[in-house]
Amino acid sequence: MSADSGSTPVVTRFAPSPTGRLHMGHAASAIRAHDFARARGGRFLLRIEDIDGTRSRPEHVATIREDLAWLGLDWDDLTFQSDRLGLYAAALERLKETGVLYPCVCTRADIAAASLAPHGPEPVYPGTCRGKDCAMHAPHAWRIDMARAVPITGPLAWWDETAGTVRCEALAQGDVVLARKDAPASYHLAVTVDDAAQGVTDVVRGVDLFSATHVHRLLQALLGLPTPAYHHHTLLTGADGERLAKRHGAPALAAMREAGADGLALAERLRATGFSGVNA
Ligand code: GLU
Repeated sequence: MSADSGSTPVVTRFAPSPTGRLHMGHAASAIRAHDFARARGGRFLLRIEDIDGTRSRPEHVATIREDLAWLGLDWDDLTFQSDRLGLYAAALERLKETGVLYPCVCTRADIAAASLAPHGPEPVYPGTCRGKDCAMHAPHAWRIDMARAVPITGPLAWWDETAGTVRCEALAQGDVVLARKDAPASYHLAVTVDDAAQGVTDVVRGVDLFSATHVHRLLQALLGLPTPAYHHHTLLTGADGERLAKRHGAPALAAMREAGADGLALAERLRATGFSGVNA
């Protein structure tokens, strides 16, 4: 099933952040998104999520393109989020006009210190700056006041391939950042704006981003944007059962490529194992 299984052509995307080298988990995700579109005569987009100026590196962009081509994937369009900052700024203005945003001057350390219970990898924002006149002249982020925003849209839901109809629970995500001190958009805002602007019908991505979808669904409603179908897939794990991530030292695709491994054969093995066996 896709967002509109009728006449709308299927559009999927792979949206890596060029902050490091891709590993097998990325390969699996890219192949899934690519194959989902191709099997339906649809379009597959490559979107480089490079708005984090401090962590993004141009050399990783070149490597990502080579990795995907090595796996036998081709894409219909290549976009860079850094070229699209005006779109995000316009969406941010719209949200400001609805009165659901507030400036926040907290640092990561402030938030960690004020958070009683950590929630996932990032603690839920404890609301320190909410309802206060935090210095507008100081460098500040913009956060969404979930308690204000949620009643505006009323109950929301989205469709996920594995979970079925999911009730949107954006409030539980806390007042997430929509524009950073050093960038006019956060991941949440940019991804929501881009998926809509690029006509993405089916978001194929790892289950680690499942909870982010609560935020994206809310933003879609506030901004009057369409809701794609979601396909949150399981993550590859290493032999130790740990999920593959750069921090666990998973081998980079580029290293495998440079060592002479066959990318097409690797992609076929991933498909044949249902994207489960990293050591296949
Ligand atoms: N850029 C994100 C990442 O590399 C993925 C965004 C998405 O698929 O929504 O984790």
